[in-house]
Amino acid sequence: MSLEIKNDNGGFVITKMDDLLNWARLSSLWPMSFGIACCAIEMMGSMASTYDLDRFGVFPRPSPRQSDVIIIAGTVTFKMAERIRRLYEQMPEPRYVISMGSCSNCGGPYWQHGYHVVKGVDRIIPVDVYVQGCPPRPESLIGGILELQKKIEQESLLNS
Ligand code: SF4
Repeated sequence: MSLEIKNDNGGFVITKMDDLLNWARLSSLWPMSFGIACCAIEMMGSMASTYDLDRFGVFPRPSPRQSDVIIIAGTVTFKMAERIRRLYEQMPEPRYVISMGSCSNCGGPYWQHGYHVVKGVDRIIPVDVYVQGCPPRPESLIGGILELQKKIEQESLLNS
């Protein structure tokens, strides 16, 4: 974020509106509290005191209407695919998707014989960041969130 601080006349800051909005958005990512399989346990661990995602401004919200990011943590079955799509569409824009774990990325251990599993959540909703692992450790998810923050930092809401 480009920032010019002037202290000579009472103190004020000059920056671009895009930079200010992006700084506010990336500092307050609110993921939906939503998990679908074992990866969700690691996601919950990331939110707990040891890893403390609060320090990045990440607070889980119980409603898609209050969320700007959805973390797909677990196996996406065809039965769940329609629900995931509906939840995604209920989120206000701009909205983001983190695909957490092999199942969500590509079908995971079910990629070959799992007749009931979608081979990647990006077949039903657009994914911004992929986090690898089965399951990914909380450090990996935190890495994914930092990547998403970098992406948001480069966006231009006013020119889109
Ligand atoms: S990637 Fe591994 S840990 Fe995650 S939901 Fe699939 S089987 Fe479970």
